[in-house]
Amino acid sequence: MSEFKVIWDEALKSLYSDYAQEGREQEYILWISKIRFVSADDAVITVAVASNFMRDQIIRKNIDKEIQNRIGELVGQSYTIQFTIRDINSLEGTSLPGLEQRTVTPQIQTAVHQTPSFSAAQTVQSSVLQPLVQNAPTSNTEITASSSQTHKHPQILENYRFDNFVVGEDNSFAYNAALTVAKNPGRENNPLLIYGGVGLGKTHLMCAIGNYLYSQNPKLKIIFVNAEVFTNDFINSLQNKSINKFKSIYRSADVLLIDDIHFLLGKFSVQEELFYTFEALFNSQKHMVFTCDRPLSEMKELEDRLRSRFGRGLTVDLQLPEFETRIAIVRQKLEEKNKSLPNDVIEYIAKNINTSIRDLESCITKLVMYADISKKEITLQLAQEKLKDILNPITVGNVGIDIIMKVVASEYGLTAADLKKKNNKKQVVYVRQLAIYLARQLTELSTTELGIEFNRDHSTIGHSIEKVENMLKSDSQLEEKLQLLTRSIRDYKSQI
Ligand code: ADP
Ligand code: MG
Repeated sequence: MSEFKVIWDEALKSLYSDYAQEGREQEYILWISKIRFVSADDAVITVAVASNFMRDQIIRKNIDKEIQNRIGELVGQSYTIQFTIRDINSLEGTSLPGLEQRTVTPQIQTAVHQTPSFSAAQTVQSSVLQPLVQNAPTSNTEITASSSQTHKHPQILENYRFDNFVVGEDNSFAYNAALTVAKNPGRENNPLLIYGGVGLGKTHLMCAIGNYLYSQNPKLKIIFVNAEVFTNDFINSLQNKSINKFKSIYRSADVLLIDDIHFLLGKFSVQEELFYTFEALFNSQKHMVFTCDRPLSEMKELEDRLRSRFGRGLTVDLQLPEFETRIAIVRQKLEEKNKSLPNDVIEYIAKNINTSIRDLESCITKLVMYADISKKEITLQLAQEKLKDILNPITVGNVGIDIIMKVVASEYGLTAADLKKKNNKKQVVYVRQLAIYLARQLTELSTTELGIEFNRDHSTIGHSIEKVENMLKSDSQLEEKLQLLTRSIRDYKSQI
């Protein structure tokens, strides 16, 4: 088997982890898990799928591009995916232990047979509702074979546990709050709301609570969903006239974990449904945990009554951990992979990554894979070279000023044109200042050149940059906001 299969597997694992975190696990199962690696040369990766239909769907959904990009990020070189059609059973897939547990267990296969009126695709769409029905214990003695053997919850990411969450001074409050909830679910600290930027451990802590509770009592009905899945389930159940089933499933949870509730902003009918679910669970002392990417005060377009419920228990935030904790996290991740890197490389990564833990992990994965494939020792110099793209993701020519304007403006419901116009409304001025500041950071355009882009003279540009620098001194949330925007700009760039 080609050495490239290692890279392929690594790329698929990392994609799977993203899909799972976004609650799109079933999409992964339906499409990506059916693609088999065949071979690779310098520029082309040949893969196999079972039918033309599969191939067309995968291409239509841009999944081939997603895989290409992920592999590109891992190896720092671009590839094109070429499809062949053949029987995929003879080809080795990518093994994802957690995934197999969750998808091809007899339980779920049985479910497909038991509900002949559902096509496979429909079963996949009702992802959350379906497994939950099976998951709900029907008698005190019933524990499904797989859960009694493994004590793994079918939806919760099993690698996210308390024992592998590195605790430092800065995240210990959030950690302890989560642990307290896991040990004493019920009235106190209900709900627990965890907020923080992307890739800082929200989902990890939430799953840790679920995994802990499940290991203590596999009969507990723990529901773990992303807010997007909750929303889709809600909409589907309205369309399928199965809203009562939806209500009864969610309202009979012992523990409800909903990830990324910022997804619900502006979606008032699903917010209403969640409000009633909340009331039902809260009144029967069932614990709820929510995560979101911003503090409640910044959750615009959230119904007041739901906002007050979210804030009723305990709210904790996760920040980027300090340097020492980042070092400990890098060591922990290496240990999990059974790999090592020299101390100066570990320090280099921990020092230079100041965006998220997820980015720390990408650095480690990239270096470890490179070492495996090239059979070279990773030195500091080599690490600097290999991590160039991750550490300086945006350089001149790499990101256009138009992307920066577009992404920043749209985050605040504006357009790039609004930023260029002579509109001096407070909000527009503020957003323009952020865009100018980021453009200065992320491109090498001079203040005069930026002036031309933003339709302003260069002194206004200088003033805007200074303004944001001053705001940064007094507004601790702003840095996080700018990091989030930088990530969105990078993500946007990688999609085009
Ligand atoms: P979020 O949900 O905030 O976007 P995740 O919980 O998915 O972030 O975390 C991103 C990655 O970082 C995961 O692989 C997670 O295991 C890891 N991670 C985050 N914080 C820690 C920590 N304190 N110790 C160990 N790993 C962590
Ligand atoms: Mg998350």
